[in-house]
Amino acid sequence: MVSRRISEIPISKTMELDAKAKALIKKGEDVINLTAGEPDFPTPEPIVEEAMKFLQKGEVKYTDPRGIYELREGIAKRIGERYKKDISPDQVVVTNGAKQALFNAFMALLDPGDEVIVFSPVWVSYIPQIILAGGTVNVVETFMSKNFQPSLEEVEGLLVGKTKAVLINSPNNPTGVVYRREFLEGLVRLAKKRNFYIISDEVYDSLVYTDEFTSILDVSEGFDRIVYINGFSKSHSMTGWRLGYLISSEKVATAVSKIQSHTTSCINTVAQYAALKALEVDNSYMVQTFKERKNFVVERLKKMGVKFVEPEGAFYLFFKVRGDDVKFCERLLEEKKVALVPGSAFLKPGLVRLSFATSIERLTEALDRIEDFLNSR
Ligand code: PMP
Ligand code: GLU
Repeated sequence: MVSRRISEIPISKTMELDAKAKALIKKGEDVINLTAGEPDFPTPEPIVEEAMKFLQKGEVKYTDPRGIYELREGIAKRIGERYKKDISPDQVVVTNGAKQALFNAFMALLDPGDEVIVFSPVWVSYIPQIILAGGTVNVVETFMSKNFQPSLEEVEGLLVGKTKAVLINSPNNPTGVVYRREFLEGLVRLAKKRNFYIISDEVYDSLVYTDEFTSILDVSEGFDRIVYINGFSKSHSMTGWRLGYLISSEKVATAVSKIQSHTTSCINTVAQYAALKALEVDNSYMVQTFKERKNFVVERLKKMGVKFVEPEGAFYLFFKVRGDDVKFCERLLEEKKVALVPGSAFLKPGLVRLSFATSIERLTEALDRIEDFLNSR
């Protein structure tokens, strides 16, 4: 028998559907896979070369569980300069993707029954991770009619003694919206007054198509109540390298490094040197390309009369469908060989998520097929 704890949670729907689409493609089917959010660019050459150099030099031993000092120092400097903060390398922990940074944060902060407030549509892994860490979840819904912006009043109304943290994600997966500065400022004030943590997942912070992006670090002072999550998967097309990080108070970072020392020992050493190089690599050509793709998909879907909120960041478009979203995705895959993720996976039925992290040629073909599908219903 597997444990009750594991029986309670589903497998990651995005990973499952991505694997399914990839298996069909391997079998020779002409499937266009717009499920998982994975940039299609190769990892930039200087990063790959740096990794090869360190591999050849034999830098293949365990490192400090928190990550190599140079990388923690580099991250502290980069984020510190960007947000005008004094960050020590001891506040940084390098993790096996941002996913592990999040899991470590929940493990480090939650006692049994502690509650975390999340916003729906909610990225597939947040709730399972919180449950695995022994916490409970309180879901605050956001609505298309309000541009999927969260409401501070609602958060305030839901705070209870057991609320340990509020988890935010901007730019957001799956909606693509960025949260407004006023909301973030209000949340920081509230966290101080009511004594909870803000865990801010900003993995899409470099893929932004508006001038209005605000980080939680723009509106907070220190890290007493903040756990900041980021990584290299999306910014530098390094999904398979598994490189993420967390920045927090030294106290929380020390707790996280304890967990890490017992679970993974450390992160792949060569990948850490690659990430150190990535800190110097400009990704603006990727951002420009994503922006062109975003504009292209937005125009096409608008012409089809589909309803959505225009994404301001990340590489997802979350749109309304008629009827059951799960059936919609199943039939679209069966009949037109286009794979999307149903909104139900994000606790938002009635919508579906399209990832535009693929070429304009493939997106053109996918949108032609989606248009045919919509017209045939
Ligand atoms: N947060 C969000 C919102 C994501 O979409 C992802 C997707 N991979 C992650 C975290 C984790 O990214 P990774 O572990 O590849 O750094
Ligand atoms: N985060 C991406 C997504 O939402 C990749 C898959 C995953 O990590 O779950 O599709």
